[in-house]
Amino acid sequence: MDLHVFFLPFLAPGHMIPMLDIAALFAGRGVRTTVVTTPTNAAAVPHHPNLHVLLLPPFNSRAAGLPDGVETAAGLRDTQISPAFIAATDEFEPHFLRLLLSHRPDCIVADVHFTWAVDHAATLGIPLLSFYATGFFSIAVAAAISHFKDHESVTGDDVPFTIDFLPHKIYLTRSQIPGHLITPTDLVRRMMAAQPKIYGMVMNTFLELEPEYAASMTQFCKAWSVGPVCRKSPTTKDRDLSQRGEAASKDAIDCLQWLDERETDSVIYICFGSMGRFTTTQLQEIARGLDSAGHPFVWVVKKDIHISAALPSGFKERVRRENRGVIINGWAPQVSILNHRAVGGFVTHCGWNSTTEAVNAGVAMVTWPLHAEQFFNERFLVDVAKIGVPVGVKAWSDKEEERELVGKEKVEEAVRRLMGEDTEAAERRSRARVLGETAKKAVEKGGSSYNELTKLLEEMVEIKTRWGKVGKEENVIGEVNKSQEVN
Ligand code: UDP
Repeated sequence: MDLHVFFLPFLAPGHMIPMLDIAALFAGRGVRTTVVTTPTNAAAVPHHPNLHVLLLPPFNSRAAGLPDGVETAAGLRDTQISPAFIAATDEFEPHFLRLLLSHRPDCIVADVHFTWAVDHAATLGIPLLSFYATGFFSIAVAAAISHFKDHESVTGDDVPFTIDFLPHKIYLTRSQIPGHLITPTDLVRRMMAAQPKIYGMVMNTFLELEPEYAASMTQFCKAWSVGPVCRKSPTTKDRDLSQRGEAASKDAIDCLQWLDERETDSVIYICFGSMGRFTTTQLQEIARGLDSAGHPFVWVVKKDIHISAALPSGFKERVRRENRGVIINGWAPQVSILNHRAVGGFVTHCGWNSTTEAVNAGVAMVTWPLHAEQFFNERFLVDVAKIGVPVGVKAWSDKEEERELVGKEKVEEAVRRLMGEDTEAAERRSRARVLGETAKKAVEKGGSSYNELTKLLEEMVEIKTRWGKVGKEENVIGEVNKSQEVN
């Protein structure tokens, strides 16, 4: 296909992973696909003859608040992506512009954080597709809150309010809304200003998952749903273990072998994404809750946590010895775990990737949102898709020490409800399974996401042909001077 597309992913696993998967999809359809990223992140780009890399300079880690050489927001101490981190990513702007001018791609897929890419694409007449790293539902909720400010109609932070103009009745409280929606940050203002200039959106979702929300979004903006992008293929396990995000820890290899020996649907998997951190007290409550719930488990604890100090004494060794559970102290091969036949439930922080990965694997969830748009995703899983059991978290917070403590009883109760044998639990699991089948069909040839990608690529080819006839050259020549200024 005569098309060259640039991908500019944000430096955080929850954005980088799905965007590289989408880049691989484009490459698989014969598109010359170039990922523009830093040297460290380039190692995660999947191998494909149509997939190329153009390097940005190494990230200014120190300015971003990271240790030297760490080039991802997952290395931040707080889960908040700070203004300093954003300012450090803004340093890529002149380098990206130089690459645009010398390679002249036909289309750009850029993370929504890179608002300056939108401006340059608009000036150069290159269609830019924004990548949001979330679903239509949460975008609709965020837009409704920003516009209609329903949260201002209630008097207390814990008083539920409904959100106007959504197809479902959704209740939230003010304390569950991200701070940056209540008081827009500079970045949020920049994103809102950039939105009218984008050509459209590429979404890691599929039309059957959130049909009403996809339809209402496309009334305002072109959008293509090409997911879920976490397909399990014969190479997934290798990629999961080596390339996807960080390299998996040695516990991870042990875990996959351990799962092989467990009964089908018997194991609960617990992971809070790439950035979810907890205090020692909270970790201990989780350990006790899992212990009392009595289901075999795989639990991912961040690698900088010293398990022996943080968890009850000898916990990791005891549960492993008794074949009750495996603790991965580091990066887990999540897609392989979720798709393992032994896994029957997932305790998740409701990050959108984890959500779509579980949906794709047909696994129901305990929802434990922490920050970002995760409380919106929780409502989607519990009230719309009806495949989630809330653990009962009340307040949004991006600081582990400020979060309310979820006691072991709540952990135990939610896990028992999810993994139970009663009709409610069985129906929830059955809905999850059906959704998983639909997700897999969506990405197969002739499925909705496959067709959406076909339409998107055809539209980009058509634009290229049209621009070939009317003065794209003029535009680009006009911009060469700009590049010289930058140099
Ligand atoms: N992930 C993983 N192993 C881990 C932790 C996370 O593979 O130990 C992956 C997970 O599969 C998902 C991504 O990291 O693709 C996390 O994205 P998500 O949107 O769920 O959460 P975030 O990290 O952005 O909060």
